[in-house]
This record gives sequence, C-alpha cells and structure tokens, in this order.
Amino acid sequence: MTASKFITEYTTERGYDLKLQTGLFINNEFVGGDSQIETVNPANGKVICKVEAAGEEQVNAAVDAAEKAFEEVWSKTTPQKRRDYMLKLATLVDRDHEELSQIETLDNGKGITFSRGFDVRELAECIRYYAGWTDKVHGKVIETEGVLSYTRHEPIGVCGAIIPWNFPVLMLAWKIAPALATGNCVVIKTSELTPLSALKVAALVKEAGFPPGVLNIITGYGHITGDLLARHKKVGKIAFTGSTNVGRLVMKAAAESNLKKVTLELGGKSPNLIFDDADLDLAIKWAFRGVFFNHGQTCCAGTRIYVQEGIYDKFIEKFKEHTSKANIGHPHDDATFQGPQVSQTQYDRIMGYIDTGKKEGATLALGGKRWGEEGYYIEPTIFTDVKEDMTIMKEEIFGPVVCVSKFKTDDEAIQLANNTNYGLASAIFSESNRRCIELAKRIKAGTVWVNCVNVLHANTPFGGFKESGIGRENGEYALDNYTQVKVVKMATTLPA
Ligand code: NAD
Ligand code: MG
Repeated sequence: MTASKFITEYTTERGYDLKLQTGLFINNEFVGGDSQIETVNPANGKVICKVEAAGEEQVNAAVDAAEKAFEEVWSKTTPQKRRDYMLKLATLVDRDHEELSQIETLDNGKGITFSRGFDVRELAECIRYYAGWTDKVHGKVIETEGVLSYTRHEPIGVCGAIIPWNFPVLMLAWKIAPALATGNCVVIKTSELTPLSALKVAALVKEAGFPPGVLNIITGYGHITGDLLARHKKVGKIAFTGSTNVGRLVMKAAAESNLKKVTLELGGKSPNLIFDDADLDLAIKWAFRGVFFNHGQTCCAGTRIYVQEGIYDKFIEKFKEHTSKANIGHPHDDATFQGPQVSQTQYDRIMGYIDTGKKEGATLALGGKRWGEEGYYIEPTIFTDVKEDMTIMKEEIFGPVVCVSKFKTDDEAIQLANNTNYGLASAIFSESNRRCIELAKRIKAGTVWVNCVNVLHANTPFGGFKESGIGRENGEYALDNYTQVKVVKMATTLPA
C-alpha cells in the first residue's frame, strides 16, 4: 500500500490493483478535511486506508460550491444538456464497472458477484433512468377566471443527502440521480464505513465534465458531518437513508434550522407470509434470498417469516437444509453468496441479538456462531417458534438472522404482518391470485412482493409506511421530492 495526496494504491487479497481516491470531492477537486477516518476491510478487519473527513469548514465549502453552481450554471443548463452529462456518467460507470465493483466489495464486504450484478449495474441503470426524465418534468396550465394560470416544477437548489453503508453506490444513485435530473445541485455525505466507491464515482463525475460544484461528495462521521449538513441553512432539502433513530435526529435538525424538506428511508422488519398453497420450493428459495441477501444488511429484508400451519414443519426442514448450503466465503471470490458483516460494531450488535433470542426462549434452529477465523462473518441464523413479544421479532437486527413463526388463517397472517412499527416491505407466497390481491391491499407496507422478495427497479417507487420513512424514492414519484411547485397567474382581463 502506498499513499500520495488523496490517492492510495492498494492491491486486494485476490490481486486486483486499485487506485483509491481519499479526498473530499468539492467543486470538482479532491481536497483535505479537518481530520481523517480509517476505513476497514470487513473480510480481515485490517485498515484499507484513511479518507478525509469534512468538518464545518468543508461542509460550508461544499454547500457554497453547490449554491454557486446552481445559481450561475446548473439553473441555466438546459434539460437536454443535463441529460447528456448524466448519460456520460453512466457510460463511464459501465467502463469502470469492474473497478467500481472491486472497490465496493473491498470496503463493504459484499460478494463480488453482487457488486457487479446488482450494486454497480443498478448505479448506471438508475442514472440512465433519471437522465430520461430531465426534459419531461413540467407543469400544467389551469383554467382560471381572468388570469392565465400555469405551474412550474422548479428545482429546490441545494439538496443534501446522507447515505448508509449497506449499498454505498446504489444509495448514492437513488439520491443524486433524481436530484440532478430535476435541476438541483447536491452535497452528499457517504457513510464513514464505506466511503471509497462514491469517491471513485466522484472522479467519474469530473471526467464526465459536470460543471464544478454541481455534485459534491463528502464523508465524515454522522454526528458531525451529517449533522452539519442536516442543519445547514442553505440546504433546501435533505434525503436520508439509515436507521430510524438517526432519521428522527435528521428531521429534528431540519426542523430546528430552516425547515428544509425531509425524506427518510428508514429501517424495516418486513413480514413474509407463506401459505399452505404456495409453491414450497420457490418460496424457500425466495425466503432465503429475502433475508440473507447482502448478509441481512437490507432495510427491506424479509426478516419475519410466517408460515401457515399445514406446511410449517416441512418448511422449517427444507429452509434449514437450503440455508445450510449457503456459500459463505471471501467476498472477492465469484462463488461467494455471503461475506462478512460490515464492521465489528455491527458484528457485536448482531451477536447480541442472537444471544437475546436464545435467552428469551426462541429455538435456535441453525447457525448463531461466528464463521471462520478472521473478519466479521456470522453464520446464517434461523430462529423458530419466535413469539411476537420477543426482542428479535420486534427490532431490526440488520444481519443474517431470521425469525420464523406459525399462523392459521388469512386474518391472523395480516394481523401478524402488521404487528410492527415498521412498514417498508412485505411478501406473500400463495398460488391463489384472489388471496394475493386481497391481502396485498391489507398489508401496511410500501412494497408488497407476490411470490418473490427483494426485487427492486429504478422505475418503481420504494419507501415506507409508518416508522419506515417519509416519501418515496425511485420512479416518477421521486421527482416530487426534488421539485417545488410555483403557480404563475397572468392577467388576461382588465379589473372590473
Ligand atoms: P446510521 O443511521 O447511524 O447511519 C446512516 C448514515 O447516517 C451514515 O452516513 C451516518 O454517518 C449518518 N449519521 C449518523 N448519525 C447522524 C446524525 N446525528 N446526523 C446526521 N447523520 C448521521 O446507521 P448505522 O449506525 O450505520 O447502522 C445502525 C442501524 O441502522 C443498522 O443496524 C440498521 O438497523 C439501520 N440501518 C438501516 C439502513 C437502511 O437502509 N434502512 C441502512 C443502514 C443501517
Ligand atoms: Mg469499510
């Protein structure tokens, strides 16, 4: 490993050479912060490199750069030109797809196959999708007496974003793409645990020719850098993804400063209802992916599996068998399904929940232990006979841990599914269309998957009911988060 100013050369354990950007990306330059943060490789617990952390001076500089870019350049840039910058960026993401995937896997610990086939692919896809919207955001003409009334859907100006570590580049895309497409400039704060992939994207933003200041990417600790951004008076909107507790803090900071608009994408404890008439093998494959995808570090993970009593025992037996074959391994190996958890803190938290589950009397049917000798690996863990009032049934664990329980009737299934403060997602497995359509109406969640789980698309909305959040990301719906409506009324008649 060698480091020069804001670049660290690093070779992965499987021999891939990387040049890692480590500066803050402000005004199209990589610059220093007021301190540094070490980022760790979760596969072995060793430090990869240090990145710059933004303090007050750098947060102000990033916001000022965004404000200047908005006033002087971006607000005067045509939608077609904005589209072209975004398409160019997507093309560069495709060109550097492998390098970005390697960085994502190194910093986060997710299997390389998933970085390639999901995270980085969807990064490009999301940018392309919103590039297509740039020239399709428009208002209406409204019939009114004595005046011509028309609406304009105007950008907010400077938008802030704070993202987590579980899908670093994908969360970046979900925030920056609709914001840029609607004509805003952005300051985004990445997670201190996974800053590296976004900084690679930053280099591509510069190469794509975006005007300086349009997109600024900074990192730093949440309670410092994140809080400064959430409180900044020149930031007109803040989009946050992360824990429900921090979501509350972000909303409070917004309320206490300038009442900036807030969208929140928070936690979940999503139910997965599996009925007697389901295709059992299919349900098992999806249930497995639904919870263990990304090592359980997915806000919409199907972590509460409720199985109808007629197939309960058979489900448990087959689900255990299927799960015990999960390919755990080094994240940089193609065959790996499950790599390490992101950090020692997350590892400890999850192991704490596993302990609590055992103490509160749930049956540990599979897993529950560390995997391997180094890194933050946890075996895929299944608890059965989990009661509604047990901690592991109620709280978001954010690890490879699933709770399984039994139900009798459709009504009971719905009552259990909705027995949570969260409402991000849900799934139903049944061969009866009538039942699926009926129950999809009755579940209180932003997504209902039918005979699948965790299937996401850039053009469909994603977001939570209840304490899972405010607002919807993705699709046409997300455009509203980044625009404000103005009505213009022009007199057409003289006053009486
Ligand atoms: P977090 O909510 O603490 O962090 C998310 C982001 O918010 C990070 O960028 C962080 O730096 C920032 N942040 C932290 N404190 C802040 C503050 N006071 N003001 C502004 N920004 C702040 O999440 P975490 O600590 O990384 O993980 C803890 C738990 O959160 C997880 O176990 C999981 O339950 C949940 N989580 C959910 C999601 C999701 O996608 N819904 C993602 C990550 C974590
Ligand atoms: Mg890391």
